Order: sequence, then structure tokens, then C-alpha cells
Amino acid sequence: MTRFDSWLETQLARIREQGLHRFLRHVEPEGSTGLRFAGRRVRNFAGNDYLGLARHPEVLRAASEAVTCRGGGAGASRLLSGTFGSHRELEQELARFKGTAAALVFSSGYAAALGAIPALVGPGDVVIVDKKAHACIVDAARLSGATLRVFRHNDPADLERLLRWAASPGGDRRILVATESVFSMDGDLAPLEEIVALKERYGAWLLLDEAHATGLYGECHRGLVEATGQGGRIEVQMATLGKALGSAGGAICGSARLIEFLVNRARSFIFSTAPPPAMTAAATAAIRLLATPDGDERVARLWQNVDTLRARFAAMGLQVPADRSPILPVTVGDEARAVTVGNRMIAAGFFVPAVRFPTVPRGQARLRITVSAAHTDADLAALAQALRTTLSDDPIS
Ligand SMILES: *Cc1c(COP(=O)(O)O)cnc(C)c1O
Repeated sequence: MTRFDSWLETQLARIREQGLHRFLRHVEPEGSTGLRFAGRRVRNFAGNDYLGLARHPEVLRAASEAVTCRGGGAGASRLLSGTFGSHRELEQELARFKGTAAALVFSSGYAAALGAIPALVGPGDVVIVDKKAHACIVDAARLSGATLRVFRHNDPADLERLLRWAASPGGDRRILVATESVFSMDGDLAPLEEIVALKERYGAWLLLDEAHATGLYGECHRGLVEATGQGGRIEVQMATLGKALGSAGGAICGSARLIEFLVNRARSFIFSTAPPPAMTAAATAAIRLLATPDGDERVARLWQNVDTLRARFAAMGLQVPADRSPILPVTVGDEARAVTVGNRMIAAGFFVPAVRFPTVPRGQARLRITVSAAHTDADLAALAQALRTTLSDDPIS
């Protein structure tokens, strides 16, 4: 073994010892809620395609038309020859949808955060992040070179403590607060009104990641910003296109000036090939669908499914999050045990793999169960039954 290989092997052995080893499971999609895995069909309760739009006929049609007309790839970055009609169309649709003046599309949500945060703050500035914010926000904050401070999860009092500290020397240092509206692993909601009031009181800016809220909350399904009426007060709204919108990519929505600035300063935008036309066309079709009766029905069905599963879990004595979201974590605790429970669920025909450190804190390994509008009542009943059986074989202490 070369020195390189033996170093890798030592690292891998350490990961395995900690019960944190990860590997890729090969699955093939089968319908909106099915997966073919190891030769059989399992029901998927692990995806973020909350509205079943990834396989909606309109979305598929838009994507294949885009491939036919515009090709498989954009062929260049947006600033070179990669800005097509399909990018402009999606950005206009996103701005209309989010109620902002403008929008900018990135090839992923991760890239959106990595482009936006270091463009807005740098050394000498402060970025204040929720303890449970997504890795892309943390990575972007680190990359920016700004001083990174973390506030206790969804705790406005702790946020205020840090804002007071950050604002105290006066001067012109920029302060950026970054958080999620619906937390990806816990399914709880940020206290948005309080956060907005605080960032305004201390002259800070807010970047809000609506990855798991876009398409689901509010009358027009724009997100938690719409549901809480905070629209005009948030400097930087971030969305992902790969979850409820069923496509792929990320977006920043805000003022025309913000978008013009990011075109000039967001390095993950400037130095990266434009998203492929199929992806942008699919996302545009999905956003348009949300404004139709079909869209309304899907959102209504999702919330109905969420309530059904919450009631079933509660009846089984499982803890359900206080807030209503399509993410229903079942905390197991120990990493190895979570993996065992996850494997048993897969064996029983339900794809709900364990989520472990570093995605969630150590000792808080869980099954991250997600609900889709495409799940049937029978799917939900069968999941609850399988969970009951699996957990009674291996009870949560
Ligand atoms: C998925 C996710 C992202 C990243 O989006 P991608 O498009 O998958 O890169 C960002 N933030 C949150 C909260 C997410 O859940």
C-alpha cells in the first residue's frame, strides 16, 4: 500500500469505528413515491420532492422540450455565452413567485449560499448563524472570512446577545444573520418575525434559506416569508429548486441591485457553467404549476398527509415536532442503533435511512421521515405500522 492509500485506510477505519461510515445506496425511481432497491420496490419516505412535481407530466414535457431545443448543457458560464432564454424565464418567474424585484439562479442551493454570503461579508464583518443552519451556510460563512458566531437554535434572545456584541463598536462593519425558515433535519420553523425585528433593531441584514419552505407555505406557496408576511423586510431570500420544485438548482431572490451585485461578485455564479436548460425549464414549469388548481390541490394534499402521519405518530407515542412541516424526524440517538433501525425499515419495504453526525449532532441520530403529496393513505398507514413493529423490536429508550 502506498503512504497515500494507508492514510486513507486509517481514516476510513476511524469513521467505521465511530459508526459514522457512509456509503451510496443505488436506487432507481419508480413512480413518484417508489424506489427500486436491491431488486425490489420500496416506498420512499426519504425524499424532498414534497409535491411529487419531479415526475409531473408538465414538468417532464418542459424538460424534454428544453433538451430538444436548447441541448443537454448550457456550454458556458452565464457571463460568457451561457445565458439562455430559459434562464431569464426562470429568473422572472422566480421573482414573480417570491414577490421580489429580481432573482438569480445557481447550479445548486449549496452554490447559491457559497456565492452570496462571501459576496456580502468579508474579513472585519460578522456573520451570525443559527446552530442548526445547513452546512452550506456554515461553509459559506467560513469562506467569507467574516467573524462567525453561532446562536442557539431558534433562540431570539441568544441572537440578540450576539447582535448587541456585533453592533457595539459602532463603525461600519457589516452584520449578516443567516438562518433557515424550515429546518431540514428537525422540521421546525424559525421565529421569523422576531428574527426580522432583531436584525432591523441592530442594523443587520438577513439571509433566509427557504429550501424546505418554498412551494409549501403561504397562500401562493411562496414559503414561510409569505406565510408570516415578512416579504419586504428580508434582504436576501434563498430558495432551492431541487426539493418541492422537483428540479435542481438554487436561487437568490431580492432587489435588482442585489442581483446585479451578485452577478459581479458571487464566485460560484461567475466561475461555473450555467445550469442546463432542462433543469431551468423544469423549475419554471413547476413554479407555474403552483399557481394552478393542480398546484393548490397538491399542497393541500401534502398538508393532509402531514397531519395524518403526525396523528399516527402521536398515537404511537412518538414525539412529533411542535411545528407543522413535511419533515418528521424519529430520533433514535445512538448512531449504530439508528443504522440498524433504518436497515430494518428498508428490509420492511420503506426507504428511511438513518441520518447521523455530522448532518445532525452526535447522539441525535434519527430516521428523517418526509411526507409527499404523492403518498397515499395506504402508504402512510403501512409506514406507521412498519415503524411500530421495527421500533418495538428495538425500542427507543
Ligand atoms: C438541500 C439544502 C440546501 C442545498 O441545496 P442543493 O440544491 O441541494 O445544493 C441548502 N439549504 C438547505 C436548508 C437544504 O436543505
